[in-house]
Amino acid sequence: MTYKQFRLSTSILMSLLILSGCTDNDPETEPEDTVEEMPQEETQDNDEADIDDGENNETEEEGNHSEEDEEVKSDEPAITIDMEEDLLDPDSIKVLVNKQYALPEDYAPDDLVTVEVPTVLENPEIRQLREVASEALTDMFAAAEEDGIILYARSGYRSYQTQVELFNNYVSNHGEEAANRYSARPGESEHQTGLAMDVTSESVNYQLTEAFGETAEGQWVEENAHDFGYIIRYLEGEEEVTGYQYEPWHLRYLGEELAADVAESGLTYEEYLLERGIDIEIDE
Ligand SMILES: [Zn+2]
Repeated sequence: MTYKQFRLSTSILMSLLILSGCTDNDPETEPEDTVEEMPQEETQDNDEADIDDGENNETEEEGNHSEEDEEVKSDEPAITIDMEEDLLDPDSIKVLVNKQYALPEDYAPDDLVTVEVPTVLENPEIRQLREVASEALTDMFAAAEEDGIILYARSGYRSYQTQVELFNNYVSNHGEEAANRYSARPGESEHQTGLAMDVTSESVNYQLTEAFGETAEGQWVEENAHDFGYIIRYLEGEEEVTGYQYEPWHLRYLGEELAADVAESGLTYEEYLLERGIDIEIDE
């Protein structure tokens, strides 16, 4: 439960809106008053019924426990992570993207869809996610709503070229050093994967701000996002590991299994990989 320790911190260090790597000041986007609510009436099909169609010929459940090595079997790690096939492949949902591991300039996902949840901004590009991440987002927002929590999606997919514009804007407004802390360089933004979505709520005026982490919505996300395959990517107090400030709004899709494992560890994705013995580079 170390993950929950992050909830306890109440730093109000940044009273300003943090214009982070996820920032939303895309030139062609519109201000907050353009909240657009999309209908959310589709039925959620959450019944992942385990269809037992009899294909499973093994009858282990029925008392076939004579061999002791069964225990060993259940201890095997279920999730495999391969450097080449997972972390370095831009199309993998496990891809690692940060200041050490940049995406190619010409990479764009080929399965982007427009998200089916309420969004804050109308820019068509950033309302997209890869299909698998979009479906998970729909499920997550619906589950949140059942708990009385209303979430909004703000900024999802961002092309390499959009990130070029964002970063350059940030540099000219705040200088390069600040830009490096709050904004991703082109190729180094998870938003280019189509697997990251910034979420927000009415309670923080639909902004991306650290205060979101203290809201009911932010708390709900922290406690539940992993059930839908998302992790909070930039944890509080982990700036040196992730290279970014705490961003309670930036969710990264990793798939349900891996997200649950990472969330349970209470670690950043980078630390989690290191702890699993995967030799990734970390900024020093
Ligand atoms: Zn973001």
